[in-house]
Amino acid sequence: MTATPSPLEEPSEAQTAASPLTRLGESRWILVAAAFIAVVAILLYQVPVWAAALGVALLAGSAAFVPRRAAARRVQLSTQRERRRMWPGTGMKVTVDALPTPCFVADGRGITRYVNASAQAAYEGVKPGDPLSFSLRAPSLLEAFDRVCATAGTERISWIEKVPTETWYEAHIAPIYMPGSGGQEMGTRRPDFILVVIQDLTENRRLERMRTDFVANASHELRTPLASLTGFIETIQGPARNDPEAQDRFLSIMLDQAGRMRRLIDDILSLSRIELKAHVRPANVVDLSEIVRHTADALSPLASEMNVEIRMHMPEEPVRLNGDRDELIQVTENLVENALKYGNGGKYVDVTLSGLEEATEGQSWLLEVRDYGEGIPREHLPRLTERFYRVDAESSRAMKGTGLGLAIVKHILTRHRGRLDVDSEAGQGATFKVKLPGLENSEDISAKN
Ligand code: ADP
Repeated sequence: MTATPSPLEEPSEAQTAASPLTRLGESRWILVAAAFIAVVAILLYQVPVWAAALGVALLAGSAAFVPRRAAARRVQLSTQRERRRMWPGTGMKVTVDALPTPCFVADGRGITRYVNASAQAAYEGVKPGDPLSFSLRAPSLLEAFDRVCATAGTERISWIEKVPTETWYEAHIAPIYMPGSGGQEMGTRRPDFILVVIQDLTENRRLERMRTDFVANASHELRTPLASLTGFIETIQGPARNDPEAQDRFLSIMLDQAGRMRRLIDDILSLSRIELKAHVRPANVVDLSEIVRHTADALSPLASEMNVEIRMHMPEEPVRLNGDRDELIQVTENLVENALKYGNGGKYVDVTLSGLEEATEGQSWLLEVRDYGEGIPREHLPRLTERFYRVDAESSRAMKGTGLGLAIVKHILTRHRGRLDVDSEAGQGATFKVKLPGLENSEDISAKN
């Protein structure tokens, strides 16, 4: 970023050239001394009066009219010093540019004087010359900034922003005193500059949360199959020690329970991985129509096992949007698989993909997965996407469900700036509707990330 030119220009003629009378006043003691020497010269050394008077007059003339470099230099130096306190020098700029996190250099009045490339990318519209509060709005950050201005101490603060996604930040705010600008008496006046360095802690916090969530959920959900595994092992070692038939039966149940534990762990890890990148928008371009067809093909064995036909209502042309192919496959697979598993009262599952043109949001796409099964009672609808929430835990377990499928769908859609709506009534089947925004410029996406 190139800094805006300083409003403080080089000292002007008017600033350096004081009036002749003022200059005479400033040189009065030299002139008095010269006049005294002239009088002594006339009286003691018979110097002609006219010559002594001419000497004094020449001295007075030069004092009044010859420009004085020292004064001009003094004005120039003080202007330069003032400018150095107002605009960061090249050294400071290149240092700030080398930092990987967003950095702002503001003056002691809170006016932005320089920002590095990372800050420009993260904070749209940030401009040197504007108050810092135009780009940084977090009240706790601005309060900390004021404290640094007032006390000249350093501050480290953190805060959370909830919109558009939960994001954790930490800022380090430090005063800067320019050498030779009176910085020695730090604390007695405003800092020349204040450096604000901002760090995005979201990734770290999500990682911490992922660990605690995993421990809490996994321990709860894994306890049942683990207890059953332990029980069967004890039985095989004890009462069923010499009963190969019972052992076979127990071993196949144990295999089922181990499979359940594996599915749970896979789903929990998958959910945590998606959460980890929830605030990074996918920049790849994918064809949603191809993804839906791929899913239908992959699930056709399950459909024939359930005796259900998947009917596709798809546009002819590709449906291009920004997305992560694997994650969108997870979305479509979860929804179609649920429709097959829980909608098995009906003969069909309808999968419809259509375009929506909205005046405010532009082009978007709607994927509907409709089944004709038992449906979901209304009171359950708002909680369907909660982790481990099941309408009927037994039927979910019987269908090899983990209770995490729709939570995963919701997280993937949040990352894709999409939405999940469910329409259903008991006995009427269910329609799961996924709305996804249309294709966006990949540069816009990386700028928004
Ligand atoms: P699960 O692994 O148990 O299938 P999900 O998160 O995919 O977990 O679904 C949560 C619950 O929502 C399921 O246990 C089921 O009770 C209900 N559900 C999901 N889809 C349907 C559907 N198409 N019809 C009826 N109930 C459904």
